[in-house]
Amino acid sequence: MTTVEQPSSTAHNFLKTIIEEDLKSGKHSSVVTRFPPEPNGYLHIGHAKSICINFGLASEFGGRCHLRFDDTNPAKEEQEYIDSIKESVRWLGFDWGEHLYYASDTFEQLYQWAVCLITEEKAYVEDLNAEQIRAYRGTLTEPGVESPFRTRPVEENLDLFARMRNGEFPDGSHVLRARIDMASPNISLRDPVLYRILHTPHPHVGDAWKIYPMYDFAHGQADAIEGITHSICTLEFESHKPLYEWFLDNLPVPNRPRQYEFARLNLTYTVMSKRKLQELVQHGLVSGWDDPRLPTLEGLRRRGYTPASIRNFCEQIGVGRSDSWIDVSILEESVRADLNESAPRAMAVLRPIKLVIENYPAGQSEELQAAHHPQKPEMGSRTIHFSREIWIDADDFMETPSKGFHRLTVGGEVKLRFGYIVTCTGVIKDEQGAVVELRGEYDPASREGIHTADGRKVKGVIHWVSAAHSISAEVRLFDRLFSDPNPDRSGADYKQFLNHHSVETLTGCQLEAALTGADMETRYQFERMGYFRQDSKDSTPDTLVFNRVVTLRDVWAKK
Ligand code: ATP
Ligand code: MG
Repeated sequence: MTTVEQPSSTAHNFLKTIIEEDLKSGKHSSVVTRFPPEPNGYLHIGHAKSICINFGLASEFGGRCHLRFDDTNPAKEEQEYIDSIKESVRWLGFDWGEHLYYASDTFEQLYQWAVCLITEEKAYVEDLNAEQIRAYRGTLTEPGVESPFRTRPVEENLDLFARMRNGEFPDGSHVLRARIDMASPNISLRDPVLYRILHTPHPHVGDAWKIYPMYDFAHGQADAIEGITHSICTLEFESHKPLYEWFLDNLPVPNRPRQYEFARLNLTYTVMSKRKLQELVQHGLVSGWDDPRLPTLEGLRRRGYTPASIRNFCEQIGVGRSDSWIDVSILEESVRADLNESAPRAMAVLRPIKLVIENYPAGQSEELQAAHHPQKPEMGSRTIHFSREIWIDADDFMETPSKGFHRLTVGGEVKLRFGYIVTCTGVIKDEQGAVVELRGEYDPASREGIHTADGRKVKGVIHWVSAAHSISAEVRLFDRLFSDPNPDRSGADYKQFLNHHSVETLTGCQLEAALTGADMETRYQFERMGYFRQDSKDSTPDTLVFNRVVTLRDVWAKK
């Protein structure tokens, strides 16, 4: 694994410098970028980097950014993905306005351009099959071998290509290839395939076509048609750039976009390729594309990540040209920082044990005021109740306390957050000897502050809820989906690194009453437990389900 980068506060974006210069020199009067997903899966956090770069640059320099579906392979593309991608881009906070495009809407133009190439003897219909084409292509150290069909006459090529379009030939029987240079050191230029036959209907253009252009033949030309000035893609397309430019040089395109490459986002403890994400879903290793443990935007959204935290993360990691790894804790810190500012606080007891306060009258209760945010009085407060029976977290009690344990023990005292100081006077055990209930007393003079009536200071402060007023909920705590920082490394099956304890489901959790009817979008800080949001899929008004977005501190730093 290469180095894991620490973010810097002045993250660099080399593309800004390029655009500034192009605007200053008058090369362009405005900037036009595009985000070009192929609708063959759901977007992930890597795509978010590309979205933030493209929409971010357009907005910073007063230009525009298009959303374009590079939909050239109907065998793998679906309307479901188109819808989800649009929704995710919007959710991230970006707007393409009226600039929504489909490469498939240019298919007729692309066909005409292919005919131009044939007429100029720069393209030919190939009869070799895929395996033969591969064998003739050569290697990095050996030149390729020219196909016997490379010198087919123009008229015959035009006729065959038209018949390919008409659906006269079965899949795989012919392809159209550019005639460039079988000896080129750049393999992309060794007579690349431009069109293939595919009798498959298309999610956007239906069954209008029996042949489909290859990605490389569609992408740059779509950029040119849309008037894209800066065509920004990831480094693996660097070797395709000479081909991208060959098409622009050899076709009567209306504009001349320029391709720039940047390093893709690699994140530790996860996998990001659509193929692997799909495999996780299909093998039932996660619950779906929106499983809250996945790095998909739908997953992060369901988990409770905010769009702002993802945008801040992308800003923070910068844009460069050398491949590196970003530690997932940087993403986690980004949402933590955002929610620390914005999330109202609440009390939730995740592993409840009952504490009966014997000197408080049964049937009685009183109201206490609790601030929504300790540093932000403007966020107001909510009412919580205190009564004879309360729930506290089982982890906040120890019968035989270990050294340094400052919470509740038999004979010990603890401060209830926003409430009284209580003493534990005894425990009730089941037949196996496990503590099942606590008995205690409260100090009526201790409602404000952390001092008892006679001035003793109490060290521990714990969260709690009134049993008569609390609501029950399911809470899901997530850990990383993989236990290895680089599950995706070559030579290993990433599935062997799955963390089999990546979700812990707690039922019967007790939440303060103010969370009844909480709206879906609100993220809460459950005091001392982390940041939580309702599960958008499984939570109902009758059965609340909360997901932990992130812990309060980086618990992994210690491990
Ligand atoms: P994957 O490789 O994960 O299957 P992809 O590259 O096939 O994704 P596309 O739909 O082709 O997905 O991607 C749309 C845009 O997002 C492209 O410009 C691509 O370069 C960019 N992109 C994809 N993955 C990343 C990443 N990890 N970091 C930054 N940009 C990315
Ligand atoms: Mg791709």
